[in-house]
Amino acid sequence: AQARYASLRDLPATTKCGTTIGLHMNAGLMADLPSLAGSGADGVGLFRTELQFLVRNKMPRRAELAGLYARVMDAAQGRRVAFRTLDIGSDKVLPYMKPNDEPNPAMGWRAIRVGLDKPGVLRMQIQALLRASDGRPLTVMFPFISEFSEFQQARAHVLREVHRERSLGHVVPDQLEIGAMLETPSLAFAPQAFFELTDFISIGGNDLKQFFFAADRENERVRRRYDMLNLSFLGFLEQIIARCASYGTPLSFCGEDAGRPVEALALAALGLKTLSMRPASIGPVKSLLRRIDLAQVRAVIEQARADGDDSARPALMEFLSTRID
Ligand code: PEP
Ligand code: MG
Repeated sequence: AQARYASLRDLPATTKCGTTIGLHMNAGLMADLPSLAGSGADGVGLFRTELQFLVRNKMPRRAELAGLYARVMDAAQGRRVAFRTLDIGSDKVLPYMKPNDEPNPAMGWRAIRVGLDKPGVLRMQIQALLRASDGRPLTVMFPFISEFSEFQQARAHVLREVHRERSLGHVVPDQLEIGAMLETPSLAFAPQAFFELTDFISIGGNDLKQFFFAADRENERVRRRYDMLNLSFLGFLEQIIARCASYGTPLSFCGEDAGRPVEALALAALGLKTLSMRPASIGPVKSLLRRIDLAQVRAVIEQARADGDDSARPALMEFLSTRID
């Protein structure tokens, strides 16, 4: 199987019906960089920047971060890297930050909420990204945006730093994309103006699923209880996809489910054109996508819904075992 995936490395993830799905990788450590070349990823759809903060015992300096981010961009060789700004909160405590004792840290003071309330680290991180880009295209995305104004404020921080860099005589990116992760159901219902202002949206399926089902992703007893292929969840994703399509907002999906072949198939059938996953999943997902017709997968999902099934999984498994080779 490994050899077969290797032979697919330079081939596109084009389905039998002729739709090409962009397969990007999730990363966060320097050790992930060799996978950029090895996996055949189209880019980095999610670079989790908090890992660089978590492996240290003191706050990294701007110049140090800029050096790391530049190495990531070098390794990407012009392919797009979506740098996600810090997603820390009281579940991912930095050893050098005062811990917050919160009853529900996943729903607490985390991610962009911290970044907007105490913007020092966010601004330093944005400066480091701008320095690292050194005029190259730059993609920044914000985690855990729950309402439009949070995105507007976060975006304003980036634009302010760009302005500052320029006034200091530094080159700034010629192409700058600023996007949001959709990880809370509320953002799916944001005003049209949000969808028009953001350069792209990336669905953080891990968090979105946990909040959609109210099932803690860290809790062993409930984390696998609800299926991503649950038809209510798929229906919700369809609404997000439809809103993005009608407003022309590029949409991708970067939760762990994107790296599971059956889930990836369903996401592609619903209309997602870009998926981001761990590098080892790219081969298996591509291999399956290249063998299927998305209209057939859509029909299977529709039939499961008409039958009143909770999840499309049994029907999809049945389809895969009998209708493709
Ligand atoms: C997600 O929530 O799906 C996501 C990609 O972010 P993380 O797993 O880092 O919370
Ligand atoms: Mg998340």
